[in-house]
Amino acid sequence: MLIIKNRQELSDFVQSIRAKQLTLGFVPTMGALHEGHLSLIKRSIEGNQYTLCSIFVNPTQFNNPTDLEKYPRTEQEDIRKLESAGCDAVYIPGVNDLYPQGLENDFTDMGGLDSVMEGAFRPGHFQGMATVVKRLLMQAQPTRAYFGEKDFQQLQIIRKMVKDEKLPVEIIGVPIVREESGLALSSRNMRLSPDFKEKSVMIYQTLVKAKELASQLPPRQIIPIIEQIYSHSDLKLEYFTLVEEEDLRTFDDFEKGKHYRAFVAAFAGEIRLIDNIQIR
Ligand code: AMP
Repeated sequence: MLIIKNRQELSDFVQSIRAKQLTLGFVPTMGALHEGHLSLIKRSIEGNQYTLCSIFVNPTQFNNPTDLEKYPRTEQEDIRKLESAGCDAVYIPGVNDLYPQGLENDFTDMGGLDSVMEGAFRPGHFQGMATVVKRLLMQAQPTRAYFGEKDFQQLQIIRKMVKDEKLPVEIIGVPIVREESGLALSSRNMRLSPDFKEKSVMIYQTLVKAKELASQLPPRQIIPIIEQIYSHSDLKLEYFTLVEEEDLRTFDDFEKGKHYRAFVAAFAGEIRLIDNIQIR
């Protein structure tokens, strides 16, 4: 596997791919790789002649400095996992390769997709995320780029940005990979104590419960039932909401032909976890 350490090396790599007219699949990550990330790599390998992963812990998308500082960094292990997954190349840039003019965001109009859920609780997070994703897409010039439904709001924002700015790349969403317990895989899980890891299984269970309730009840009756469950638990709920998939807005009643998802953010001790599920 080719290890690309800076922007110039990436440019050489991209030129060689384009000269040979090969399709390139791209998987941007912040490292601390797990089976969720590897499922994106697998999809990319299946759909493209070449697969490039990037590992970059993007400072501008962290609204909490402690979260940035404590973000797990496991580069050698990541490289080993990518290699055994059959990834062709990994781009591990420095901050200067993505932010040559300093840590400033490019503004992206997200049409309100960023004012709810994660956007409401993590100010600036999506502008930072969109800045780095756009810069990475422009540098890597992939045929397709792969993002997990684990961060469904992020996926919808990227889809809109790529469409609005006519970036020549196909965006592909990949289903959430979970532990057997139902807990969604996340780089943050390695910071959970064994006790909180066990307790965090309720996140998935409440999502499944909301899905079951959605066959009989409207959202205004489902949400208090779920909130009640959290109020009797050791997890601290930040939000539990049901929204329509396209515009991420809350709604009064389910309509035929539309898709809906339940979203949750909760603290297990210090660790903030998010998850979601399609309910209809
Ligand atoms: P991150 O390293 O957390 O920025 O994640 C990189 C990519 O992996 C994003 O597109 C995530 O949505 C995706 N991802 C993270 N966890 C999972 C998971 N459990 N299942 C599927 N995709 C995931």
